Amino acid sequence: MMTLLPWQNTIWSRLQQMRDSGRLPHALLFSGPQGVGKELFAQLFAKSLLCQEPDSSGLPCGHCQPCHLLASGVHPDFTNIAPDVESKSGEILVDTIRGLAFSTTLTSTAGSHRIVLLRPAERMSNSAANAFLKTLEEPPLGTLMILISDRPSRLLPTIRSRCQLIGFATPPAEQALPWLEAQVNHGDPAMLLALAGGAPLRALELDDSALLEQRDSLLTAFIALAEGRTDPVKVAADWAKQDLNMLFEWWSGWLIDLLQLQAVEQPVTLFNKDRRETFKQLAERLDSGELQRNLQRLYRARQDVEANLNSQLLLESLTIDWMGRAANR
Ligand SMILES: [Zn+2]
Repeated sequence: MMTLLPWQNTIWSRLQQMRDSGRLPHALLFSGPQGVGKELFAQLFAKSLLCQEPDSSGLPCGHCQPCHLLASGVHPDFTNIAPDVESKSGEILVDTIRGLAFSTTLTSTAGSHRIVLLRPAERMSNSAANAFLKTLEEPPLGTLMILISDRPSRLLPTIRSRCQLIGFATPPAEQALPWLEAQVNHGDPAMLLALAGGAPLRALELDDSALLEQRDSLLTAFIALAEGRTDPVKVAADWAKQDLNMLFEWWSGWLIDLLQLQAVEQPVTLFNKDRRETFKQLAERLDSGELQRNLQRLYRARQDVEANLNSQLLLESLTIDWMGRAANR
């Protein structure tokens, strides 16, 4: 049975108050960093709205018919929209949105709500986004659309402005850590939470010994490059086979940590807390202007990779650049 994550109580009460006073809009945009529990929250909220006997705080009972239908994924008033499996670029396609426009013209079958969950909302193709905008402009009665996005700036501004924004922040460590401690199997909770930038569910995903070993080997190569001890072309060829999203996330974390260590004596938000000494020594040898330029190049390369440019060539230029700037200083 799904439960509310401990750091989501405030948002939960706020939405329940809106519901009780009949002030729920027809579209909500849940935005915030990856791994803070937006989707779990949205599913629980959908359950809460469809449940016949929610408790006093609005939590679903888990045993009524709508709760059972939702748990088995067949509730007729709940639609979950995700990127189409047929889309090579991982987009939500226009046909899916058109199908939605059709189904939401029907009135809800059982209760007063019909719920559409759409995530990641920024993955709608251009034509899907335009079709969705039409649905938002003439919202079907009784339908609540919940858009979930880690990157709301990539949504059409006209879509954003028609949704009520609900922001999900990274929780304070004193709320995240006790929860995480009860969940992890392999890693050190504080290290994982730091590595995840404070996002607890992301930290839990990283609690995977294979993933942590992978991070170690990538980081070893990154440092070897900085010390001029390895071949950047070989490293790039190896890295091109990795999960590039994860590689870029870690890579930017390494550069940000180096910049932080140059800026202050005891940074509190280091991603790689477990490697503080290694990073500190490296930071002392590097020029902060160069580091910033490296980070900018990395962000640009990430966009280029998303635009399906040749990732191995991009990685080569980055590893060669990193070695050239960092080594021989
Ligand atoms: Zn129920």
